[in-house]
Amino acid sequence: MQWIDLRSDTVTLPTDAMREAMMRAPVGDDVYGEDPSVNALQARLADELGFEAGLFVPSGTQSNLIGLMAHCQRGDEYIVGMDAHTYKYEGGGAAVLGSIQPQPIVHAPDGTLPLDAVERAIKPVDPHFARTRLVCLENTWHGRALPLQYLAETRALCDRRGLALHLDGARMFNAAVALGVAPREITRHFDSVSVCLSKGLGAPVGSVLLGTRDLIDTARRWRKVVGGGMRQAGMLAAAASFALDHHVARLAEDHARAARLADGLQGLRDVQVVAQHTNMVFIEVPVERHDALRRALDDARVRVSIGYTPAIRLVTHLDVDDEGVARTVQALRAFASR
Ligand SMILES: *Cc1c(COP(=O)(O)O)cnc(C)c1O
Repeated sequence: MQWIDLRSDTVTLPTDAMREAMMRAPVGDDVYGEDPSVNALQARLADELGFEAGLFVPSGTQSNLIGLMAHCQRGDEYIVGMDAHTYKYEGGGAAVLGSIQPQPIVHAPDGTLPLDAVERAIKPVDPHFARTRLVCLENTWHGRALPLQYLAETRALCDRRGLALHLDGARMFNAAVALGVAPREITRHFDSVSVCLSKGLGAPVGSVLLGTRDLIDTARRWRKVVGGGMRQAGMLAAAASFALDHHVARLAEDHARAARLADGLQGLRDVQVVAQHTNMVFIEVPVERHDALRRALDDARVRVSIGYTPAIRLVTHLDVDDEGVARTVQALRAFASR
């Protein structure tokens, strides 16, 4: 029996067709700007998402880091969610490597940063304070697509207060598919956007940072500084382009499977579904039953991270099919009835 891995949508494996595309990719030295497959990916995403330029990087963490470093100087500050990836899950990179101070804000339950709190956090221009330069949002946030109206309001606030606006759009395509809008309807509100190709889109490696030509030139310099300049990266870029061609619309299937998974777990004793949005389901199980839960899921060959956060996250993706959802529901129902 095959394992079903619901820990994250990062675990997807490249498909045979994707591997074929990687094999055929024309390549060159990307540090010299001479890799045709990397250049094609960057240009194509910039065009589709409405930016002047793009930059292919090894990870979403690096994409956010060099984006922040391109916007901010030493002693500048960015306003960010308390639970945001760029603040909480990237090793404090902006502060550690960029000398950029984070100003965290508590998220509203829908993943937005309340704009009155954002506005209160903006520092006066005075040597006592770091210089507030940037607001950073995350979309999707715990699977939730941020409302388009909220993005427009945040843009207006940033314009009024002279701040730049960055999107950690690791799962931006999930948000666009869930809202039924063109990705541009999300990205047009931002000065820079980072998108991951290696999550639900199924490429093995890579993210792209998008912005103005100037911002991307600065980010390219920082990419080299932090060790992200890759040489014949075209094979990876070809996988990413393949993912954009073939794996965006199908994210709707992941969302439908996550909804079915959540439905199948309704009304169980000891398994409480606390949220389901796009490709994520969050459940809570009493801590004293976590060992039993681990055993039950192991026996059914379902892999889940347990105990990392209070809620347990189940993520659907390219490599989770209907049988995988059914088996997970069955295993959790059997566990709950014991
Ligand atoms: C996965 C993810 C990233 C980037 O992660 P890497 O593992 O460095 O590619 C950034 N932001 C969010 C919200 C993510 O989920």
